Parts: sequence; C-alpha cells; structure tokens
Amino acid sequence: MEAHLEDRIFARFDGMDLNGLCINLLSQQLLTWPILRKGYDLLKGIKIRTISCNGFTVRLQHNQGRVTSTLADTRPETIEKRPCFLCLNNLFEKQKGILYKDFLILCNPAPVFPHHLTINSIEHTPQRIESHIRFFLELSKDLGDNWIILYNGPKCGASAPDHLHFQAIPKGNTPIEREFNNNKKPLKFSDIPYVSIYYGDNLGRVCLIIEGNDIEAIDDAFNRLIDALKSHLKTIDEPMLNIACFTEKGRVSLIVFPRSKHRPDAYFKEGEDKITISPAAIEMLGVIVTPIERDFLRLKGEDIESIYHEVTIDKKTMEIVVSNMS
Ligand SMILES: [Zn+2]
Repeated sequence: MEAHLEDRIFARFDGMDLNGLCINLLSQQLLTWPILRKGYDLLKGIKIRTISCNGFTVRLQHNQGRVTSTLADTRPETIEKRPCFLCLNNLFEKQKGILYKDFLILCNPAPVFPHHLTINSIEHTPQRIESHIRFFLELSKDLGDNWIILYNGPKCGASAPDHLHFQAIPKGNTPIEREFNNNKKPLKFSDIPYVSIYYGDNLGRVCLIIEGNDIEAIDDAFNRLIDALKSHLKTIDEPMLNIACFTEKGRVSLIVFPRSKHRPDAYFKEGEDKITISPAAIEMLGVIVTPIERDFLRLKGEDIESIYHEVTIDKKTMEIVVSNMS
C-alpha cells in the first residue's frame, strides 16, 4: 500500500503554499496525462447561459464531459459491485497528487471550472462529513483565498458515496458568490460564541452560513446544526447536505445547504419530460450542469426555482432547526 502511495505523490504539503502546489500539479498533469487534457479541452467547448430567477440568477453549463457524473448510479447495490474509482489502485495510470494529511489532492478529469480538484481520502472509507468537518475547515484555510471547497453528502451528489472525498474549485466562478452579501440575514437568537450565523435569504434555496476566524468555534456550530437537523428528522444518519467553504483573509465561511431529496422527479421521467440535472454542491452555488443540450436550451427560470424548491428543505423547517441549535 505504502509503495503504491509513493508512486502517486507529485508533492507533499509541508505547511507552505498549498495553492502554489495545486497550480503546479495541474500544469504538470496537463502535460503528462492525456485524459485530463481531453477533459480540459472539452471545457473550452462548453456553452453557458445565464438565467434570471426570482431574486437570483443561475448559470447553465452545457458540458458533455460531465455526463458520467450527472448520470452516476449511486444505489448501494451498484456501488457494492463496481471497483471504487477513488481508491489508489484504481486511479488513472498517469494520475498523481499532493499528499495532504491522509488525503491525496488530485486533478478532476471531468472539470466544471478552469481548475477543478478532487481531494480523496487515501483509505477507502465512507463519505461522511461529521468526523471530518475539522479537516474540511483546515483544508480551506490551507488552500487560502483563491478556492472554494465542496462536500456532497453520500445520498445527495457524491458520485462515490463509499469513498470519502471533497472537491475544490476556484473562487469567482459561481453566481451565489456575488449574491451572498446582499442576501445574508443574521440570526437574531444565535448565542453560539465566536461565530456569526446567517440565513441565505431570497436565493430560491435555503442555506445557513456559519462564519468566523476560529475553526474550533465553526466546528462546534456545525455540529450543533447537524444535531438539530438529526433531531428534527428523527434520524441517526447524516442528514442530506451539500456544503461549500471558503476563506477570506483568515475568516472562514461555511455554507450548508440541507437537502430533502437527491434528484428531482423530472430526472426519472421518460422522453420529453426528462430533465437530466443531478443537483449537488456546484448546482447549489448556482452553476447548473446540463450534459444534455435539450435541457440547456429549454430550461427557464421557473424550472430552476421549482427544482431548487423540490430538492432543498423549506424555510420554515430551517427556522425550526436553527432555533434548536443553541
Ligand atoms: Zn475507494
């Protein structure tokens, strides 16, 4: 196992300039790994369409390179039978990464953005955020101000629900980033120390934003949110979530999108009525990947509003949940 890992290491993170290492990794991999180059070539040919919705905008991205990911069959019986594509033994032959703690930072061969990284656990261990939120927050700080990191829950967007992984995308590429500042509403009753908590309001999908300089305090607030969600949903399993996180001058913002459903009903329809969209963290940030051209051309603002409404929890539920956080 160790020898195998050694073969995969492009660089090791030693506490300095993780952002620089990632940029170098991408340059090196584009030279040495033809499949990655092909993925980035496909990205050059994508079509973009901006749609105005009620109070917010989304950007449709027609990206044929993402068809495998959008159509991923994540049913347990399928997952059990397939070789795990995130395990070291099954990575692409030319794929190398940056060793960061117990994870490898790798280039995503089906990019949605001009840089797109996958951060894989070295061990084959299930996709769960609860015991890894601290790691997630530290990764955001170490990557620095140029990145947004993402988590997709095992039942709402992760294409490998059996293997712990995150993604990183460059800042400045998603509509919600511009909309946040005008749509953040502070929670009146939050008395959790050292963090500020806001609702993302008027965005068509409910989210909670936890901000602060102290990772421990954000970790604590996040765990209170998870506990409140579990108690509301009467479950011991991880609630369905997509999470995004970014850092700005040392201040960390964690954005949590609680979900009610993985895919909209239209995803499962046949013929004309079928809409091939599989909402995950990237979609929650306002970039809607549409691998099928027909969807790209025909979707309207109200279709997006209705999909967001269908797959996220409603505002009332969120208010009940957050009132139980303290
Ligand atoms: Zn695996």
